[in-house]
Amino acid sequence: MIRASERAMGIEYAIRDVVLPARELEKKGIKVIRLNIGDPGKYDFQPPKHMRDAYCKAIQEGHNYYGPSEGLPELREAIVEREKRKNDVDITPDDVRVTAAVTEALQFLFGALLNPGDNILVPSPSYPPYTGLVKFYEGVPREYLTVEENGWQPDIDDMRKKIDEKTKAIAVINPNNPTGALYEKKTIKEILDLAGEYDLPVISDEIYDLMTYEGEHVSPGSLTKDVPVIVMNGLSKVYFATGWRLGYFYYVDPEGKLDEIREAVDKMARIRLCPNTPAQFAAIAGLTGPMDYLEEYMAKLKERRDYIYKRLTEIPGISTVKPQGAFYIFPKIEERSKWKNDKEFVLDALNEAHVLFVHGSGFGYAGEWHFRIVFLPPVEILEEAMDNFEAFMRKRLSS
Ligand code: PLP
Repeated sequence: MIRASERAMGIEYAIRDVVLPARELEKKGIKVIRLNIGDPGKYDFQPPKHMRDAYCKAIQEGHNYYGPSEGLPELREAIVEREKRKNDVDITPDDVRVTAAVTEALQFLFGALLNPGDNILVPSPSYPPYTGLVKFYEGVPREYLTVEENGWQPDIDDMRKKIDEKTKAIAVINPNNPTGALYEKKTIKEILDLAGEYDLPVISDEIYDLMTYEGEHVSPGSLTKDVPVIVMNGLSKVYFATGWRLGYFYYVDPEGKLDEIREAVDKMARIRLCPNTPAQFAAIAGLTGPMDYLEEYMAKLKERRDYIYKRLTEIPGISTVKPQGAFYIFPKIEERSKWKNDKEFVLDALNEAHVLFVHGSGFGYAGEWHFRIVFLPPVEILEEAMDNFEAFMRKRLSS
């Protein structure tokens, strides 16, 4: 047998791992309500028409060639304008890199930052590719706590404790997946102060930046003075185009502390040639075009968020913090005598109630005894899922 690398064999991705047992049930003809993957395109959300038209037009007009490794100049200009509007950042197109979505941005940044044994601070709980990709590049993900009782805001003291001489950056995911937390301005300032104290860059994942229900997203890019900040964003969430695989990041680095990182990232960008060319034309249309679709979509999402939150608060044995952004809710399992751990709980709910959640421990140690629900589907589907889940919980708790 030809052995695979330990690096690749070590990869875990909880969100997709739970799909296998769900498929087994489906093979037996059982209908499973899947609330595990954060993909709006699977429900009643599509990228706006002006973006779809621009994508088709680019293909029809022959924009099917390799573009520059750093992205098309017109798109980098549009990104600068969008980010100046949103975050009031002082950047030029030269500070922007276009990628195959945020996932490739993470690969570039971790690849450029990490030597074996170096570490990156990542939130706990957090979106799993953060830990997975840091490990892939032979780094160590160090999880800092976010505190449920405090609306899942990061614990700055814990963050400080996790920094050592091998720390290369602090990653911030805001609004957060899986908790739906929106960080306060004060918290962002404290993170920047801490990063400044230890001379670390902040990597800011802002893929859900305009998806907030209460309050507005604050970017560390908009508040920094001398701390280098790398902001990542893309088309997947706010522009509802997950399958197009297009994103970007930019450096807010007034003192040029990231010059070598930029050089390393550009080397990585060159060996993968370039991002998808026609999708970049769609991105220009999205970033410069009207945003009225977002208002309509956010109204739908808010109704679904409010519905699921209300239902969950009525179910015994669990407690829930109301998410303020993104489209996830992350309840805590309070009644623990019936299950060994959160994974067993999720499998039990799948087999008995035929609803698919993701176990919280798949998002890091602070996610233990929690589970993540995606509330993208229409209320009728959420209602059926919650009816089944509520009956399951009441039965289990009375047995
Ligand atoms: N970052 C966070 C916090 C996410 O939740 C996700 C997807 O769910 C991504 C990044 C992936 O983004 P992209 O589709 O741009 O690779």
